[in-house]
Amino acid sequence: MTFGCQMNEHDSERLAGMLEEMGYEPSGDPQDADVVVLNTCTVRETAETRVYGRLGELKRLKAGRPGMVIGVCGCMPQREGAANEVRRRAPHVDLVFGTHNLDEFPTLLREVIEERRPVVAVSGEEGEIVEGLPRRPGDDLKAWVTITHGCDNYCSYCIVPYVRGRERSRRPEAVVGEVESLVAAGCREVTLLGQNVNSYGRDFDEAAGGAGFARLLRRVNDIDGLWRVRYMTSHPRDFGLEVIEAIASCGKVCEHVHLPVQSGSDAILELMNRGYTAARYRDVVARVRQAVPGVAVTTDIIVGFPGETEADFRQTLDLVSDVRFDAAFTFVYSPRAGTPAAAFPEQVAEEVKKERIARLIALQNGITREENQKELGRSVEVLVEGASPKNPGKAEGRTRTNKLVLFAGSQGDRGKLVNVRVVRAGTWALHGEVIP
Ligand code: SF4
Repeated sequence: MTFGCQMNEHDSERLAGMLEEMGYEPSGDPQDADVVVLNTCTVRETAETRVYGRLGELKRLKAGRPGMVIGVCGCMPQREGAANEVRRRAPHVDLVFGTHNLDEFPTLLREVIEERRPVVAVSGEEGEIVEGLPRRPGDDLKAWVTITHGCDNYCSYCIVPYVRGRERSRRPEAVVGEVESLVAAGCREVTLLGQNVNSYGRDFDEAAGGAGFARLLRRVNDIDGLWRVRYMTSHPRDFGLEVIEAIASCGKVCEHVHLPVQSGSDAILELMNRGYTAARYRDVVARVRQAVPGVAVTTDIIVGFPGETEADFRQTLDLVSDVRFDAAFTFVYSPRAGTPAAAFPEQVAEEVKKERIARLIALQNGITREENQKELGRSVEVLVEGASPKNPGKAEGRTRTNKLVLFAGSQGDRGKLVNVRVVRAGTWALHGEVIP
């Protein structure tokens, strides 16, 4: 069971691969499972509450099947004191291990089974990156490929650097090798994944400056049989010209940049320790749009950061109106114990946060709809993912700009690249007809 971000989804694929190598098969229902592993998130307190909720349900299952092994791994055990907390609050958990111990999972699991005792393994130190771990991708058509682990940025609201460790990049040959083997197995789209992909390679090649990621994009772009390349997440401070040039010149690199801005106020950006101003952000977006015609730009925004005044918030609304994002993921700030911002004075009242996020969402939804309506009558290339789960008789897929498109089709269309003429455009999806 995976909680949290794509990084965890990816780690879960590795865990599934290791289990498969040990002779286990996936089970759709925890009731039938011999081993249940919760790969946890600690970014918000609510994420941990959900994990404890699941552990409560599993306790009841385990009472009827004492042989079941329950494991908790990922970011939560990595938070100071949390591993002991799991053992105290959920003594039926047999195995607790951290993000730095992922590759030890088979050994730890055997220890639990053979020695019939609980095992805890949470290293504080990130070791060398372990390559060659087996992997069981959740999707054969599209895959996530980690290029960096950890993060050095220490944004003041974020716990990731404390639980995922310092930033470490995988060697380019390891990344390229993984993508090649995915493509050989039928994968057509990869998303290169890191907390800050733009600083890729700085840890082993200082001379590369910001060019390490641009070079990697070019190498992945050259892989035969691959159709689309995406990347996540970009950091506005490190989004340099080399990367913009690579995106513009690499035909497989999709015209979509997810560039979290977080706030439109310089004072708040400084308190967040983001390392750029709103003007620098606008400048990066302008350069990207100039170099890559038709590019979609999406963002993340945090509302109600400590000290955010109405004037600061209005600067965020102004930036959103000016930049006109294709979509934005909006979050209400919630203090995370262990991060500097949790101790900042001037925490914003909950009702103020709620009122602000409602204004922001209303503004952005209107912009998203208007931007989508610009697609009316256009032909867009869609990589078909299969039958639409919520729309009978329809298939769905994504444009290169990462917009969801629905059209008459079926599961049999999965894996095809089709051109679709857009006939209707809403906030969440485009609707169209396949051009024969
Ligand atoms: S860049 Fe900032 S928000 Fe993103 S993972 Fe690193 S510290 Fe957290």
